[in-house]
Amino acid sequence: MDLTYPPEAEEFRTEIRGWLEDNLPDGWFDEDFRMSPSDKAKFNEDWPHKLFGGGWICATWPEEYGGKGLSTMEGVVLAEEFARAKAPMRADFFGDTLVGPTILMNGTEEQKQEFLPKILDGSMRWCQGFSEPDSGSDLASLKTTAVRDGDEWVINGQKVWTTQAQFADYCFVLARTDPDVKKQAGISYLLVPMQQDGIEVRGIVQPDGTAEFNEVFFADARCPIENVVGGVNNGWKVANDTLGFERGMSATTGYRRFAEEFRLMVEKAKENGLIEDPLIRQRLMKFQSKIQIIRINGLRSLTATVQKKKDPAVTVLGVTNKMFWSEMHRDAMELALDIWGTEAMLSVAGPQKSSWPGAIKAAGRPEYDVSPMMQAFFFSRSETIWGGTAEIQRNIVGERVLGLPREPKVDQKKG
Ligand SMILES: Cc1cc2nc3c(=O)[nH]c(=O)nc-3n(C[C@H](O)[C@H](O)[C@H](O)COP(=O)(O)OP(=O)(O)OC[C@H]3O[C@@H](n4cnc5c(N)ncnc54)[C@H](O)[C@@H]3O)c2cc1C
Repeated sequence: MDLTYPPEAEEFRTEIRGWLEDNLPDGWFDEDFRMSPSDKAKFNEDWPHKLFGGGWICATWPEEYGGKGLSTMEGVVLAEEFARAKAPMRADFFGDTLVGPTILMNGTEEQKQEFLPKILDGSMRWCQGFSEPDSGSDLASLKTTAVRDGDEWVINGQKVWTTQAQFADYCFVLARTDPDVKKQAGISYLLVPMQQDGIEVRGIVQPDGTAEFNEVFFADARCPIENVVGGVNNGWKVANDTLGFERGMSATTGYRRFAEEFRLMVEKAKENGLIEDPLIRQRLMKFQSKIQIIRINGLRSLTATVQKKKDPAVTVLGVTNKMFWSEMHRDAMELALDIWGTEAMLSVAGPQKSSWPGAIKAAGRPEYDVSPMMQAFFFSRSETIWGGTAEIQRNIVGERVLGLPREPKVDQKKG
């Protein structure tokens, strides 16, 4: 395996490093760099504009839709340099990562012109309306309907676990547009405006007081007839493209967050003496070995993409990737709790005061103010579920990759 990058990639790396040095606050790269709350608030406000100005948001998208048309290799170098500098990439996960690439792949020219620029400049926020109360893993059994009425679709039904629906301007909704065919064949992928009378969003409050998930009720909600992505009744294929983006992970940078967690765990175990405990040592080394597996597999996938080679092992990696990292991370966060011990329960204790990689800090209940590490622990429990559970991923590996007999289905026609 040759781990060197081509010279043009290194040239691009220098350009990105220069841009980051010019645009990040003074002192950012110093070990003891800290921002006051007001500086941090200002940084958070200014940074997306700087990123947009630099053209670094969705920079691999074609130039005609506002991207920079970066090659795969350049996109990887960009992600690596941002990760190395610990510089945030704006994260409108649903717009940038899910629906944007789906529209690029399946949308009409009009849809690309209308939606992609607003995703890029951050003026249109999105949520994902796939799951329903009785349709999660068996997504194709969904019951929300869309019926044509003149120039519009009229939507009725309920979605659940809709993350960030309370902030979204638009939702990408899977709805049944033909009830009389095999369940996968009668679904369409609609782009539905959220600010209308026919849509009600109800937050689902979690133990830490945050409510990033919602129930979304559609009662004669409407969207224009042309807001179907990929054609009427072709939504199952389009939804699978979105799920492919959701299950993917930035090939050569995804492991860095776990490597930082490993570093924090070793530092703490050294401090409290647990580094001498043979079982803790063993679990730490298991974590480290899996981080390295993810890193090397990322490079392997990148090599196959850049060399345009069909490597069957890389196809298997694509399918097993999410299951592998999410199960690894669930175990790793249990290890973190064991290393911190009772201290892990304190919201403001010791090192937990500092941030934890990947922790999402939303306003919780003041009386239950969880530390960033605890938040990462809670969230790790969900990682084997969202975007398709680990069990479902195993079924996919068994049936589609290994060619094992398919699971018996109750009713192949309508489910
Ligand atoms: C943090 C988070 C964010 C989410 N955000 C969104 C969102 O924004 N939009 C959205 O649409 N959805 C969202 N979801 C929902 C998510 O997609 C579903 O939770 C997931 O698809 C599983 O569906 P379910 O919860 O209905 O579980 P079920 O499908 O009821 O599964 C329950 C259990 O049974 C197992 N199981 C089910 N079928 C099989 C089978 N055939 N073989 C073996 N085991 C099986 C599952 O693995 C699971 O352990 C989110 C979920 C989480 C946790």
